[in-house]
Amino acid sequence: MRAETAKLVERAHEKTSWPTVEIDGMLLLQAPGLSGHRLKHAFTTRKGGNTPAPFDSFNLGRHDAAAQCWDDALENRKKLCAALAMPFNELRVPGQVHSKRVVFAEDAHQLKEVDAVATVSSNVPVLLHYADCVPIIIFDPRRSALAVVHAGWRGTAAMIASEAVTALVTRAGSEAWDLIAAVGPAIGSCCYPTSFEAAKSLASTVTDGELFITLRDGQPCPDLRAINAMQLLERGISTVDVSDLCTACNPQLFYSHRQSGGLTGRQGAIACLI
Ligand SMILES: [Zn+2]
Repeated sequence: MRAETAKLVERAHEKTSWPTVEIDGMLLLQAPGLSGHRLKHAFTTRKGGNTPAPFDSFNLGRHDAAAQCWDDALENRKKLCAALAMPFNELRVPGQVHSKRVVFAEDAHQLKEVDAVATVSSNVPVLLHYADCVPIIIFDPRRSALAVVHAGWRGTAAMIASEAVTALVTRAGSEAWDLIAAVGPAIGSCCYPTSFEAAKSLASTVTDGELFITLRDGQPCPDLRAINAMQLLERGISTVDVSDLCTACNPQLFYSHRQSGGLTGRQGAIACLI
């Protein structure tokens, strides 16, 4: 392996403990690399709302058909925006479908079947939802542009994080080196046995991809956070922060599709240019 690649592989696997803030009962994580810029952001936990089980207590998703779930999610989104001083009436929330589709908020009136939303506008908050999938915020402090990305295994295999970088380069004039990315809490390889087919397609997205798959009890367990970090580092991004928290290992803190057996809420990644 070339020394340069070995260094990137090592960096992609690095995970750090992120600072938390508590606002009005909500426990929010903030990536160190995104702090101190003209950007507001947060990765939410399940703490801070009044939503009853099994979506307790700060569910932001409207994935359940019940009207109560929809109402609660709306209230929680309002509460989140208010706490972060973001305009709720400008909030953009796409209908996610595990695609690799990236859309600029300025270019689209509706955000159906979109898994990454970018913007160059101030005061336009972007919120995406997760329950094990990888939340990623990509920010360009020089040109003031951002993208919020939803990368499950399908999105990761389709390299949606890299697609978001391409969108920022093309539409916002970003240069990869200027970008700062934050890869939030998601299911870890500790809790994510998957098929050989899925593992193979994930590994094929990065150089030395087999180094991102652990074999446990005969089953491949990919490190989705590290694979996304590696995709971003291989695009030339200078700073990639990766959270050390696994959503399935911490059911008291996070919604986890795997851990819950499927019936659970959604945490969020939200970002807004100032
Ligand atoms: Zn775990």
